[in-house]
Order: sequence, then structure tokens, then C-alpha cells
Amino acid sequence: MIDVLNIRKDFPILNTTVYGNPLIYLDNAATAQKPECVIQTVDELYRTCNANIHRGVHFMSEQCTEKYEQSREKVRRFINAEKKSEIIFTSGTTGSINMVACSFGERFVSAGDEIIISEMEHHSNIVPWQLLCERKNAVLKIISFDDNGILRIDLLDSLINEHTKIIAVTHASNVLGTINPVREIIAKAHLYNIPVLVDGAQAVPHGNVDVRDLDCDFYTFSGHKIYAPTGIGILYGKEKLLEQMPPYQGGGDMISTVTFDKTTYAQLPLKFEAGTLNFIDAIALGAAIDYVNNTGRQNIFEYEQKLLDYATQKLASIEGLKIYGEANKKVALVSFLLKNIHHLDTGMILDKKGIAVRTGTLCAEPLLTHFTQTGLVRASFAFYNTFDEIDALCENLEKISLMFK
Ligand code: PMP
Repeated sequence: MIDVLNIRKDFPILNTTVYGNPLIYLDNAATAQKPECVIQTVDELYRTCNANIHRGVHFMSEQCTEKYEQSREKVRRFINAEKKSEIIFTSGTTGSINMVACSFGERFVSAGDEIIISEMEHHSNIVPWQLLCERKNAVLKIISFDDNGILRIDLLDSLINEHTKIIAVTHASNVLGTINPVREIIAKAHLYNIPVLVDGAQAVPHGNVDVRDLDCDFYTFSGHKIYAPTGIGILYGKEKLLEQMPPYQGGGDMISTVTFDKTTYAQLPLKFEAGTLNFIDAIALGAAIDYVNNTGRQNIFEYEQKLLDYATQKLASIEGLKIYGEANKKVALVSFLLKNIHHLDTGMILDKKGIAVRTGTLCAEPLLTHFTQTGLVRASFAFYNTFDEIDALCENLEKISLMFK
């Protein structure tokens, strides 16, 4: 059970006022707020335990290294990976996908090969593959979705062929909310020995993720969307693939020995962790994971689904409001347009009431093109949001609707 009033006390920023109104933060899909324990972890580390990891023999360096590696273990358990060596710290989902597109692409993709992504991807799961295709003269193919926002996985068979080298698909859409049947997609891809990358940026914050159950080959997510600091993220990769892939960046920590003739590389996962990593925020990611585990991922899922159902019903009852994304299984977000009112107008007026929503292309232009739209309004929820906040959103939308009569 989520005791939302108590939970809200853990997030100091929720006491902020905006233009004299209490903040109603409904932009959690863009970035989530941080609980006190995460803020304190960062603060305490800089005050008491800040030294570069994997390098020094001195006390503090060793302490920091230990905490960093403990955090890796927490991430491993959080997504149920088999080995710690399969967990790579990156700067975020975008960093993780670029790493795979470059390194996997360098090793496995050649001219004429094909990569499949979906029509509902965030730009971060489009552009790295486009860049790879340009470099390698490869071809990008697209799984489309229907007007309810459901992926046409029935089309997958017609897209896969002997040239397909990888499929990259989002676990949950940041615009439609759709939770995709990634397990099914992966099972199908594996019949053809095709690896699958899952963009988990919008799925990890909202429920349980088990990479072994999914059997995905790569899984990516961002710390800042699961209550950890910005600038830290995760790439999970199956060891047998990561081992065959060349390093992404060269520099400190990813080497074994360096001479001017030849450099040999460190074992996994360090092979993919060049330079001074964001070790402070990696440790704080561990604190965020503890917080989420203590709150209970099933509790979070159930409470957020109630928020989603309530918001969907209330929003749908507003005259002239159209919801984009009507799949049965969704994460807790709703994208919409109110009559023919410009998304920026809606967003700016809500802002004046202290209500933070996201507006614009939502970093998914091809998805919006499907609906011949150039922008939407998105309200996205976390387990610290309340039903009253949804009421306030809807009341203000009704008022905006009258203003533009
Ligand atoms: N994929 C999806 C589905 C997302 O929602 C986002 C963030 N909006 C990203 C990728 C990119 O995440 P980041 O900016 O943290 O790298």
C-alpha cells in the first residue's frame, strides 16, 4: 500500500510553490523528483567520501570503489541480471543506446544489413541507429503501430529477413504509455538468432523488470527517471555479446595494459567504462533503488495504475479532449490535446497554476507524425502524485476550454 502523504514528505521539492500555487508535478516521464535519502547520499559522499574509484590504494578511494561496486550489485538484483559484469554504468538511456549502436554496430553491422526499430521510439532509440546506418550503409526498418497506439507485431515476420542484425524497441512508450509485448518480440527475434535491445527508460520506474525473464540481449534505462540523480544510467548486456563487442571509448579504467604498439582491454564491465565515471551518482542510484525496493515495486505499480485509470476517465470526460494512446496496458501517463487549443497554450496556462506538464514533440516526432500532430500535452505520474492533483489538472483544463470557446 502506498501512503502517499507520508511518501510526499520524502520529496522536499514537492513543497515548492510556483507562482504562488503549490507545485503539481506531472512531468515525471521527463525526470522524476529525488527523495531525501538520494539527496543526502550525494551530499554525504562529497563531504566524506569523494575519491576516484578503481585507482588509488588509499583508504577513501577503496571505500568509494566498494560503494560503487555495491551499487552495481544492487542494479544487477534490481533487473535480475545473471552477472555483475553485465551491468555497465553509462550517462543514461541515450548513452547506453549510443554505446550499443556504435560498438555492436562496429562489430556486427555491414553494408546492406538491416536494423528494425518501431514507429513509437523516442529519438534516443532512433537517431543512434540512423547514424549507424549512415556509417555502414545499412537500412533502418520500422514496425508501425495502430491508431490506438498498439504495436503491429503481426508485421514483424514480414520485416525480419537474413539481413536483420538487431531489433531495438521501447518497453513502454513515453508518449502513448503503451507497454509493448517485448517478451514476445524477443522470443520471435531469437527464433532467427537476432538480438534485441529494449529501451526501458519508461518501464523501469513503473514496475518490475526481469531481464532474464524477458531474455533481452540489451536493456537500457536512466537513473534520473527512477528517483536517482541525473547523468547516470545503465546498459545491461548479455556477457557473450558484450565480450564480442569492441570498446566504445578509449581511456582510463577500460584498459589492461597500454603500450604504443598495442593496448589490451580490461575485463567486463570496465571495458565499457572509460574515464572517470560519474561514480557519486552511480552510488546514489543504489540509494534510489533501495528507496524504490523499500516502497515496493508492486505497490508502486498498483498505485500508479489507479492514478492512471482515474486520470484517463476524468480527462476523457472533458469535452473536446482527445487522448493519444489507448492500449490496455499502459504506464502511468496520458498524452492529449484539448479541442484545437495549441499544446503550448495549454501547457503555459497550466504552468501559471503551478501544474507542470510536458508539451511539444515529446522527443518522438515520427510518432506524432503518425497522428499528423506537431505537439501534444503529456501528464505523467509518479507514486507521490495524488488524486487531488489530477482533479486540479482537470478543473484547470475545463477552465482553459472555456477560455478558448
Ligand atoms: N527513451 C525513452 C522511452 C525516454 O522516455 C527517454 C527520456 N525521455 C529516453 C529514451 C532518453 O533518456 P535520457 O534522456 O535519460 O537519456
